[in-house]
Amino acid sequence: MTVLNTEVPPAAEDPAPVGVEVHGVHKWYGAQHVLDGVDLTLAPGEVTVVIGPSGSGKSTLLRVINHLEQPQRGHVSLGGEPIGVRRHRGRLKELSERRILAQRSRIGFVFQNFNLFPHLTVLDNVAAAPVATGRLRRPEAQRLALDLLERVGLAEKASAYPRQLSGGQQQRVAIARALALRPGVILFDEPTSALDPELVGEVLAVIKDLAAGGTTLVVVTHEIGFAREVADRVVFMDGGRILEQGPPGEVLDRPRHPRTREFLSRVL
Ligand code: ADP
Ligand code: MG
Repeated sequence: MTVLNTEVPPAAEDPAPVGVEVHGVHKWYGAQHVLDGVDLTLAPGEVTVVIGPSGSGKSTLLRVINHLEQPQRGHVSLGGEPIGVRRHRGRLKELSERRILAQRSRIGFVFQNFNLFPHLTVLDNVAAAPVATGRLRRPEAQRLALDLLERVGLAEKASAYPRQLSGGQQQRVAIARALALRPGVILFDEPTSALDPELVGEVLAVIKDLAAGGTTLVVVTHEIGFAREVADRVVFMDGGRILEQGPPGEVLDRPRHPRTREFLSRVL
C-alpha cells in the first residue's frame, strides 16, 4: 500500500477552459464523405451537445477534434492554435508526433465503453496518465487522483479494480481519468449509451457538475432531457453536415430543419 504524502500541495486549480474551432473540415473513408464541410466554434467554457442519427459523423467529428483522425481538408484549432499542423511559409505542415501528443493531452476524451485498464486499481487508472507523461511524480499523481475520485463520488473505491464496479461507476472513473491531465476541453462520445437505464443519471450528474464548473464540453448523446438542461448549444448533424445549431430552446423545441424534426420525433 502506498502512503500518500500529505506534504504534496493540493491539486492545482482547475485549468482554464479553452475554445475549439473546426474550420471547413472534410473527411472521407474511401469514397464515403463522412464529414462534409463542418464549421463549428466553441467558446471557452461552452457546453455543446451534438445529436443526430447513427452514421451521421458525430464520432468522427470528435475524433478529428482530438486528432485521432486527420481531415483531408480543413483543420481544427485549440485555443487559437492549429492541431497537428503548423504554418510554414504560408502552408500547413504536419507537427511532430511529440507535439501532437502534447496538444492532445489538453483534450480529454470519454468513450462509450469506459476503456479502463482492467489490471490497475481505480486510483492507478486515474493516476496513470500524468505519471506516464512525466507531468507529475507518482505521489502527486495519486493525490490528484484521490481528489478527482472524490469529485466523482468514488474516493472509497480507490483500491478496487474496474471489474468490481458497476458500469456507471466505471464511467465516473473514466471521467476522473480524463480530468487527470487537466484538459481545457473534454469530449464525450455517447458516455451513457452502454449503461443500464438506472445508472445513466449518476454519470449525467457528474458531467453536469463539470459543466457548472466552467469546463468546455462537447457531449454526443441521445439524452435530450440532459441537452435541454445543460447545453448552451445543441448541434444537429446529419449526413456529415451540421444542419442546424443553436440554444436548446430553439433546436429542440422549434427545429427549423425537417430532418431535425424527424430525428427528434424518433428519439423523444
Ligand atoms: P456516428 O457517430 O454519428 O454514428 P460515425 O462518425 O461513427 O457516425 O460514422 C460516420 C460514417 O463513417 C459511418 O457510415 C461509418 O460507417 C463510417 N466510418 C466511421 N469510422 C470509419 C472507419 N474507421 N473506416 C471506415 N468507415 C468509417
Ligand atoms: Mg458514434
